[in-house]
Amino acid sequence: MAQTLTAPKVKVDRKWQLFIDGKFVDGASERTLVNPADGKPLTKVAEAGPKQVEAAIKAARTAFDKGPWPRMSALERANMLFKIADIIDKNAEELSELETLNGGKPLREAQYDIADTANCFRYYAGLITKPTGTTVDVPAPSVTSIVREPIGVCGQIVPWNYPLLMAAWKLAPALAAGNTCVLKPSEYTPLTAIRLAELLKEVDLPDGVVNIVLGDGPKVGQPIAESKLVDKIAFTGSVKTGKIIAQAALSNLKKVTLELGGKSPMIVFSDFDLDTAVDYALFAIYCNSGQVCSAGSRMIVEESIYDDFVAKMAERAKKIRVGPGLEEDTEMGPLVSEPQMKRVLEYIEIGKKEGAKLITGGERLKGDKYGNGFYISPTIFSNVKPSMRIVQEEIFGPVVVVQKFKSEEEAVELANDSDYGLAGAVFTKDITRAHKVVKQLKAGITWVNAYHNTYTECPWGGYKQSGWGRELGTFGLEAYTEIKQVNINLDPIPVGWFENQE
Ligand code: NAD
Repeated sequence: MAQTLTAPKVKVDRKWQLFIDGKFVDGASERTLVNPADGKPLTKVAEAGPKQVEAAIKAARTAFDKGPWPRMSALERANMLFKIADIIDKNAEELSELETLNGGKPLREAQYDIADTANCFRYYAGLITKPTGTTVDVPAPSVTSIVREPIGVCGQIVPWNYPLLMAAWKLAPALAAGNTCVLKPSEYTPLTAIRLAELLKEVDLPDGVVNIVLGDGPKVGQPIAESKLVDKIAFTGSVKTGKIIAQAALSNLKKVTLELGGKSPMIVFSDFDLDTAVDYALFAIYCNSGQVCSAGSRMIVEESIYDDFVAKMAERAKKIRVGPGLEEDTEMGPLVSEPQMKRVLEYIEIGKKEGAKLITGGERLKGDKYGNGFYISPTIFSNVKPSMRIVQEEIFGPVVVVQKFKSEEEAVELANDSDYGLAGAVFTKDITRAHKVVKQLKAGITWVNAYHNTYTECPWGGYKQSGWGRELGTFGLEAYTEIKQVNINLDPIPVGWFENQE
């Protein structure tokens, strides 16, 4: 029997404009967004042309050079960030629904994201009022203190998998430190960012402190990365785009933070409870339909339990309830867009051609429930070789490869055999082994007997081609500051360096 989609409560059929210098303005063109749950048009949004991008950068520049925001006390800025957190919480239901409609993820995931978004603002509101300066005991009569100052105008370019949360990871520390921002959301998922702009207006954030321009990467993102009026660029997205951003940033050697992709391993030893390991494996790869930078996309499983692991994982993967994000019993939603779905399907074909064994899934889901939406069934490949493209490249969809190891040494070798180094996990009851393995993993985020635990308080970022720098925690705040040394001579008598000049 055909199931109808749950009717959204939120109204998307309205104007979605750019946010520049505290005003909502039209763009140079419009884009029609598509609902990934049914493939139908969702709404239209304004997109920026060169003029609007320039205006947004100039507004942020003026707000930084002349406006009140960088000159406020940390406490005043903290109070504003607390207000932002509160108003996000107040509107959480609407924001979650918008995130689901726009990006496809199940509502329960969107609800977590929005709660995390509010908490990110709250965390940096708290952090910025804590002492950060230091003094250094230099020889008298000098005294030296080291202070942190905002960098200036920050360009912030974010992807579509966690639209508002990724924006918060950048906006919250940048604002806390006293910077001003030009945010560019993904062209696929701009709705919650614009809604956030409306909330920022409601809490009276000074004009020009946050500007939001919509549009595609090369036309709207790249000019921000290239602009000499921008002092820092923070980017989350693919390695390919990250390299373009790094090149563009050379124009004025602006500061750069890159949070890029991953192909993260989850190592499972035979001493660990098999059913629990499989449960974590499902969470590691199929959460947000695998569209997670830290997704556990490579299972590395000890030989003695390999067959059982694959069989049990397949059995449970088949039972995952795939469907529209707004339906209550949905456990996994569609992919974000048609191009992303096609990309994932292409990888599945590549895997088959490379000779990997397709255990389950591997197809687009069709039928009444799915309409023309972008659904792919949870997919598992076994019998893979390290050289295969599906083992090396980031697929960013519900596709996992299961590799086999005989020794601890081989497990580590397989895990580190990647250009990426974002995350990695090890599952074992042996604490010594867990420590030994984690110590050898070339990854910025590691878990023991856990997966996907992400804390605003802890650093996020990767080794190797997974990026430059760290977000979140104290590290995330530091990345939005310049360090200034202030040396004061308490007894300014003539220095006497050139004595014979009379
Ligand atoms: P993407 O690189 O295609 O796009 C990311 C953003 O960059 C978008 O806003 C896009 O419009 C913009 N962009 C594209 N080309 C640009 C250019 N030439 N100049 C400036 N901006 C440009 O990535 P995506 O497909 O949106 O997101 C998926 C990728 O993001 C995956 O690789 C994933 O691993 C990564 N990601 C990483 C993290 C992390 O924290 N490490 C988090 C989420 C996603």
